[in-house]
Amino acid sequence: MSKLGKKLFFIFLVLVLSALILVGFFINYSIGERFYDFVNLQRQESIEELVVMLKERIKDESVTAASEILESFGRTNRILVWLEDADGNLLYNPEHSAQMNNMMRKSGTRMGNMPMMNIQRPESLPGQTKKEEIIIDDKTAAVLYWKEVNAGSQIDSELYNYFKRNVFHAIIFSGLIVIILIIIISFVVSKILTNPLIKLKNAALEVAEGNYEQEISNKGDDELSELVQAFNKMTNKLARLEKIRKESASDFAHELRTPVTTIKGYLEAIEDKMISLDKNNLKEMKEETERIVSLIEKLNEFAEAQNKIFNLQKEKVNLTDIIRNVLKRREKYFKEKNLEIELDIENELIIEADRDSLFQIFNNLIENAVKYNQENGLIKIKSKLKKDKVVISIADTGIGISDEDLPYIFERFYRADKSRSTKNGGSGIGLAVTKELIDAHQAEIFVESDDSGSIFTVVFPI
Ligand code: ADP
Repeated sequence: MSKLGKKLFFIFLVLVLSALILVGFFINYSIGERFYDFVNLQRQESIEELVVMLKERIKDESVTAASEILESFGRTNRILVWLEDADGNLLYNPEHSAQMNNMMRKSGTRMGNMPMMNIQRPESLPGQTKKEEIIIDDKTAAVLYWKEVNAGSQIDSELYNYFKRNVFHAIIFSGLIVIILIIIISFVVSKILTNPLIKLKNAALEVAEGNYEQEISNKGDDELSELVQAFNKMTNKLARLEKIRKESASDFAHELRTPVTTIKGYLEAIEDKMISLDKNNLKEMKEETERIVSLIEKLNEFAEAQNKIFNLQKEKVNLTDIIRNVLKRREKYFKEKNLEIELDIENELIIEADRDSLFQIFNNLIENAVKYNQENGLIKIKSKLKKDKVVISIADTGIGISDEDLPYIFERFYRADKSRSTKNGGSGIGLAVTKELIDAHQAEIFVESDDSGSIFTVVFPI
């Protein structure tokens, strides 16, 4: 059994044993009293039946004929009875009855051991004496005495001890069955509880070794499966970050190589006096240096976007305000290209999101819609409010994206038309940043494009 199983077993065991001990005490102190009440009640009923029989016998025959009934009554009931006639003469006492001897034998008591005991009269025995008059023709024909049982009487307590022993045996027996049951239950419950925990532990050890691709199968809706869900979410993010980190380094090196190699070529050629350090060459080198600076800035932006995966400052934000803000800041560029802006969005589009990320997403998309648009072109921004979604589309009348390029435009450093994009100052990072931020918000982005323009559609959950 697992460690957790052993703990569960111990807890169950303590609970069950405490319950059994409590039941034991309860029986000892409470049932004891009830036991005598119950037995006396039964005695009362038997005596009432006896009185009816005695009445008939005395009526038919005589008072003395009653002792036969009393004898057989004594054989079947453990009740001591005495019978007196109307004048107070004792006609029957239990001393000579087989019943008395039988009881003495059963309780292991011999008359010799009880010198004080004189059973000639009922009052001589401990316990309350009860009597019942046998009335025939409105006259008392005889009086029947019997003893109530009580804890003080050795014979009676023998009966009680016998009863108590049986009850305790039953408790111990059921206790043993319950202990077997709790062993089985602890085993099953610990298996159910520990299985996902063991999987979690092994997966966590793998993560510690740097293997982030861990997905634990998960069923149910309790706290344990919530823990598994949270773990899966964490490893997913870690795996994604790790992938980005690995790829970033090689992509960045690749992107830097071109401008750095160009500058190095110029410098070597100048050193070898192959070319002179003229204005043109200096300008070329400056442009390449600027490319490096812009690349580094974009990469910084990208690193920040990745951090958003773990660091979203979500709040209620009006998307319309954000879009209006972006448009205002880009006004200068619209004028430069003489672009027309068509805005068809609701006044209030409230979503739960990170304000800076939203700004960056729409800034990048609108920047591209300007950058890749024709002179005198159009940019249309529309919103649609669905049941649990806000849909925003940004359409331009630009150069469009070919079908071959379309699947890759969200990849880092991917530029559909490299020479044109580079000329536009593109680095192929803007959409990669946008996609990271969209994913961090559990939102979605789609793109449709042909040679009349492109439409980027963003879908936010509300
Ligand atoms: P860049 O900095 O090069 O614009 P992005 O990641 O923003 O990088 O975009 C990647 C590529 O996708 C761009 O180089 C461009 O070829 C293409 N692209 C993005 N938006 C548009 C658009 N609205 N119209 C045409 N092409 C686009």
